[in-house]
Amino acid sequence: MVRSNTLHDQPLEFEFNLSSRLYRASTIMDERMGDGWLLYAPDFKGLPILIDDTSHDILNRFNDGAVAGEVLSACANETTSPFDRTLDTISFLEEHGFLRDRPVKSSYADIAYSLPISSMSIWLHINSDCNLACPYCFVESKQHQVMGNEVQDRVAKAIAHTVREHSLTEVNLKLAGGEPTLDVALMECIREKVAAELKSLDIRFMTSILSNGTLVSDRLLDFLKHPMTSIGISVDGFGEAHDIHRKFRGSGKGSWSIIEKNIQKLLENQIHPHIMTTTGKETLHTLPELLEWIFEQGLSTRVSVVRNPNCSWDDTPLEEATYAGYCDQLEECFERALCRLENSSVPFDLANSLAVCELSFEYPAFSGVTCGIGRNHVVITTAGNVASCPMTVHEGGIPMMDNLLSSCKAAFPYSPMDRASLKGEEDCRECQWYPVCVGGCPVTNLRVNKKPFSKSPFCQFYKYFIPRYIRFLSKKLHQQTSVLSQV
Ligand code: SF4
Ligand code: SF4
Repeated sequence: MVRSNTLHDQPLEFEFNLSSRLYRASTIMDERMGDGWLLYAPDFKGLPILIDDTSHDILNRFNDGAVAGEVLSACANETTSPFDRTLDTISFLEEHGFLRDRPVKSSYADIAYSLPISSMSIWLHINSDCNLACPYCFVESKQHQVMGNEVQDRVAKAIAHTVREHSLTEVNLKLAGGEPTLDVALMECIREKVAAELKSLDIRFMTSILSNGTLVSDRLLDFLKHPMTSIGISVDGFGEAHDIHRKFRGSGKGSWSIIEKNIQKLLENQIHPHIMTTTGKETLHTLPELLEWIFEQGLSTRVSVVRNPNCSWDDTPLEEATYAGYCDQLEECFERALCRLENSSVPFDLANSLAVCELSFEYPAFSGVTCGIGRNHVVITTAGNVASCPMTVHEGGIPMMDNLLSSCKAAFPYSPMDRASLKGEEDCRECQWYPVCVGGCPVTNLRVNKKPFSKSPFCQFYKYFIPRYIRFLSKKLHQQTSVLSQV
């Protein structure tokens, strides 16, 4: 018997060659969980699954490689497992990457990083004004910049040109600021211009707003009711922790109570905002309450951690040692959060509720970067320049070219092919979690290690969190699949 979030209650059909020799993948996480076993393949698409002892025994028969037909015969002679069930189990394990058609190396040093690009996200800084005054913000609010007509037109044309050049099938336009909802008319205008340029192209065009959640007007609700449109709301922590920094410009009052009301208003209008959590030293202690609050409302979140332990991004040199205490605190708070969320009363959608940092659990990050920097994540400033990442917008960027993917590459001229390990340090490509983590945030690594593709200063936290989160997902899966699927 097997439990998985995709398999449950679905008929199984696999193509299968009995003479094929199969190998148990050496890269998988395989642990006892209750009366079953947790399996997770970091280098293969999919989330963890749970299997019973019989299926686990079948998997282990392939430890040194075995012919499927011979394992079937052996199981028929030595166990009470019906032939069909053994056959289906082998097929299922192969389909989900736990059995492979050749021995798998546990090193990722030979990856070609040549995944095709089919989608592009455009992070557009449409203005620099904001009604909040968060001290850590990387946008210079006092400059009062707004993206002008000429830049809007160039951006819309460049998006369409890039879609044609690269035969892209998906564009996600992210409207950011400053605070973009201060100017809904500007957002409407930009969306219309981009939509008009893409009209004749067969493309999935999505728009999302990245907002502080304090301004939910009727006009904004109308904007959000447009198809393929969504909103993300930035949150630092729960209640008073959120208010430490997210205060209104002028009055100095915290914004938590307003965004709480606005989230209810959005929900009443059948709009489910995505919560963009950014937590750091001062707010981490409220992570358990915050996540429970988010999931109880049926919402989803990505939790990012403040990259600089000092909560600023000035030019003070940073060293890996600075991160050790921070990683300890992250571990302690994430552990408390996961323990709380493990309660079966907390609703949780395995694939969508929670994303953490730049970690990629369901899809191996074999492009070598989890965020698309230098690849297909294009960041455009109000002046029409291209920056490498939202965190580097204040550096000004480079002039935008007609081909946005070329601009993106030029703004961040590094390649994961040039991955480096620092002297005497573990090489990420030899790490079991490389497909999930690929060394973390390249901009942070560049700042701390002077090399973007090197071991993250958050490595200690990742090595705790990745297997812990897999165990957490397995527990939630166990709670949700009360009826077992027969394999
Ligand atoms: S940063 Fe750490 S956890 Fe991530 S791939 Fe490198 S060694 Fe592994
Ligand atoms: S470089 Fe780092 S901060 Fe920038 S988008 Fe990528 S993961 Fe995020």
